[in-house]
Amino acid sequence: MAKPFKYLIDLDGTIYRGGVPIKHAKEFIKYLTKNNREFLIVTNCPISNPTGIVDKLHNMDINVKEENILTSSHAVGGYLERELSAKKVYVIGSSALKNIIQQRNVELVEENPDAVIVGYTTDFTYEHMKKATHFILAGATFICTNPDDTIPDGDTFTPHTGSIAASIICATKKHPIIIGKPEKYIVAEALDRIQSKTDECCMIGDRLDTDVLTGLNYGMNSFLVLTGNTTKAMLEKSPIHPTKVFNNLNELMIWDQNIVKENL
Ligand SMILES: [Mg+2]
Repeated sequence: MAKPFKYLIDLDGTIYRGGVPIKHAKEFIKYLTKNNREFLIVTNCPISNPTGIVDKLHNMDINVKEENILTSSHAVGGYLERELSAKKVYVIGSSALKNIIQQRNVELVEENPDAVIVGYTTDFTYEHMKKATHFILAGATFICTNPDDTIPDGDTFTPHTGSIAASIICATKKHPIIIGKPEKYIVAEALDRIQSKTDECCMIGDRLDTDVLTGLNYGMNSFLVLTGNTTKAMLEKSPIHPTKVFNNLNELMIWDQNIVKENL
């Protein structure tokens, strides 16, 4: 019998789209909170600090705590600590990313770094690209917070971290270690945070190539919600098959309530 999952929930396209909350997200989060269900909102976006995301959600009447938020910046921090023991890094990215890295006792430098970390920032310049290229060619480890080339922005798409990293990949002919979904490092950080094993958790998201693949790559159940990036036509053509597909979070909540009842 299926046990109620601890959910790892994507943010953009699942809880909100840009500045607009997605229908039923509020009720779903309320349901999890009311029933003391553990969950983590796992986002590839490294730009916001957890407080900023908590505040943004609060303004949409969706109430979560800071400890419920995990960004790719947290996962970079965990990676630097656990896997690389880098002491000096050059960062292209937001102040949130820089703060989280500094909290892990890693020094931010402008010369001779052990690693170059590329995240999302609207302040990206040619000088950043040049420095990163020189450092990587001199042997610094190339790390990228998340692979997303664009993010939804109203009716259009805006370039994201993957597009910034692409310029440095082009110049160095080297490929970065990707930390965010669908790679394993963000999952490792999430499981570490909620002290759980993969089979106790389930990924929920709107993208097949990041959210759903993340779950499947790590032996987790992976639920797709059709409220963001993926349409039914895209799903039919895709080689990536979610464990379950829901039209929205309300359908998922009803499914979950039934699983809870079965376990009583
Ligand atoms: Mg998404």
